[in-house]
Amino acid sequence: MSLASVPMPEEQTGSTPETHSPLDLLAHCRESLGREIQHRYGEAPFRATQLFQWVYKRGIGDIAQMSDLSKGFRDRLIQELVIPTGRIHSRQISEDGTRKYLVEVESGDLVETVLIKQPRRNTLCVSSQVGCAMGCKFCRTATMGLRRHLSASEILRQVMAVIADSRSFGDTFTNVVFMGMGEPLHNLPNIRTAVRVLTDMHGIGIAPRKITVSTVGLVPAIREFGATVPANIAVSLNATTDEVRSQIMPVNQRYPLEQLLEVLREYPANKRRRITIEYVMLHGVNDTTEDLRRLPGLLKGVPAKVNLIPYNANAGLGFQTPPEEWVAQWQRKLHEKGVEVTVRWSKGRDIDAACGQLLTVTGQKKGKAAREEMLAAG
Ligand code: SF4
Repeated sequence: MSLASVPMPEEQTGSTPETHSPLDLLAHCRESLGREIQHRYGEAPFRATQLFQWVYKRGIGDIAQMSDLSKGFRDRLIQELVIPTGRIHSRQISEDGTRKYLVEVESGDLVETVLIKQPRRNTLCVSSQVGCAMGCKFCRTATMGLRRHLSASEILRQVMAVIADSRSFGDTFTNVVFMGMGEPLHNLPNIRTAVRVLTDMHGIGIAPRKITVSTVGLVPAIREFGATVPANIAVSLNATTDEVRSQIMPVNQRYPLEQLLEVLREYPANKRRRITIEYVMLHGVNDTTEDLRRLPGLLKGVPAKVNLIPYNANAGLGFQTPPEEWVAQWQRKLHEKGVEVTVRWSKGRDIDAACGQLLTVTGQKKGKAAREEMLAAG
């Protein structure tokens, strides 16, 4: 069974719902919505721009208030257009200000969305799937298994729910990362639609350089992402040998280091938009002196900056956090070797919002089966 056999929803921008079926505004990029409006109502595609501005710019979802649309058109939209909102099931606030939301996206499915408070920016971390099939051994989300992909609409419902809630805090976010629950590139069509809306100046209007999509290293999807999505990419490397990487990240059995690094060397990055190499430091597992020696060589030719993430042992999966001095030594040595490197200590640790800790109560253990199917791919 191939990776493609894991359920992949159709890209919603390309689908043409039957006339009179509900039209979900959040499922479409502006161009796709314009086509849909023309097809259904014979209205000019620029009506989609007006709808985007009402919903995404002004935060108004009441069609009756959309005064620049004709009364007749509004009446038809009231019958068919739906503008869903993610329902915030719960919200926890960390001592460092980070807010972790449990958002009900559809039919009782809960996903986690985190607003990370930082000194000079706030970053929204969104989920791309309910659970995850990738089975990384250091990740709590992996223990849920994959329940399903999120649709583009469900991804954007998280964003809209946090935008609405943030008004009561007087803040918002400046950056978006797809690093919540799930492997985003396993759900690439819907990620692509969501990024189009996020970066649309008539939509949410975030600069592409402020959006980062992470991946565990799905090689064909990285190639496709680089060619079709105007956002940054972050790749979880997390080891310097196939032996260790396969132990902690089963995906490495399907796409070993050599294949992964080759696609990264060919990746269409440039000096301003380098690939972020995420390296979760699991003390005594992947942060040995030998790993430190090998890493710069592995990254030769990759337009990369390295993000060291000391493991958050609160996840309770048997791995240890490296000592701060050891992390500092890694940073110093890599820097001496000419590698651009930063350290990211997880935020929101007291509310389980940190990397690798996202886990919802509705999780089901389907992961093993999905993972075995993926790894059996030829
Ligand atoms: S680290 Fe990411 S890709 Fe790996 S299991 Fe967790 S959510 Fe999935």
